[in-house]
Amino acid sequence: MAVIINGKAVAEKICTELKQKISTMDKKPHLTVIQVGNNTASSIYVNLKKKKAEELGIKSTIINFEEKITEENLIKEITKLNNDNQVHAILVQLPLPKHICTNSIIKAISPLKDVDGFTVQNSGDLLNGAVPNAYPCTPKGIIRLLEEYNIEISGKHAVVVGRSNIVGKPIAIMLLNKNATVTVCHSKTTNLEEITRQADILISAVGKKIIFKDMVKPNATVIDVGIFKDENGKTTGDVDFENVKEIVGYITPVPKGVGPMTIACLMENTVELFEHQ
Ligand code: NAP
Repeated sequence: MAVIINGKAVAEKICTELKQKISTMDKKPHLTVIQVGNNTASSIYVNLKKKKAEELGIKSTIINFEEKITEENLIKEITKLNNDNQVHAILVQLPLPKHICTNSIIKAISPLKDVDGFTVQNSGDLLNGAVPNAYPCTPKGIIRLLEEYNIEISGKHAVVVGRSNIVGKPIAIMLLNKNATVTVCHSKTTNLEEITRQADILISAVGKKIIFKDMVKPNATVIDVGIFKDENGKTTGDVDFENVKEIVGYITPVPKGVGPMTIACLMENTVELFEHQ
């Protein structure tokens, strides 16, 4: 049976260290989260982030704009935050309403305050193998988990299922930068099982149950990024955890796997941006 990777415990360790560090700071880091509209899932995520920030001694502000705000006005508001030296980290909660171009909004964030690491400068640095101001939180959390459990990345075949800008693409680049041989799969991949069975490290970021026991290699490491509700309303991930854990070497559960690491890395990024400014 696999070792269950305890993301919650690693995240708590990161947060405890951050809290200690912040307690010694005269001036506190300030994270500002922008939410447009009142999408329920977004509100839950935004409030979770605020609660965790406050627990650690990070000042946090949520700015809620009406769904109908124009792209131009949203960019103006972000520019104000860029110029406000009391704000150290800016997060725009995604998804945005359809009339707003997400890329234009991300471009408007100062790379120095880009706590998600999504701006062109920071993602370009990542692509170039340079150190960005901030690494995207979920991929950063995944790498941290692999390191905490001493899972070798260099020379291994890492298979990433999903190619979103927030998870799939950046984790693929980060694994490549750490000398893994990386294969990225997506909805048009025709031979998914054949590829996932070759993975020493399998990362699934899809949002539906897609990884079953006949798709994994014995002793592989499986990282499940997916989070969604099953037909009974239970929170679950992409991987058939109960059956897959009997075959692989390491596996993350959902919940208590990657999720808490994402929030911990967001807090860590906030503190790091504050320190750089
Ligand atoms: P996304 O933008 O919807 O991307 C999903 C990806 O899955 C796409 O690249 C899509 O391919 C691919 N895909 C869909 N069906 C597939 C199939 N049958 N075979 C192979 N690939 C398939 O999602 P996301 O934002 O990356 O999030 C993915 C999941 O992770 C969601 O459940 C989300 O809630 C969760 N998530 C969790 C955390 C965390 O902290 N734990 C953080 C972020 C996201 P195409 O590109 O071809 O459409």
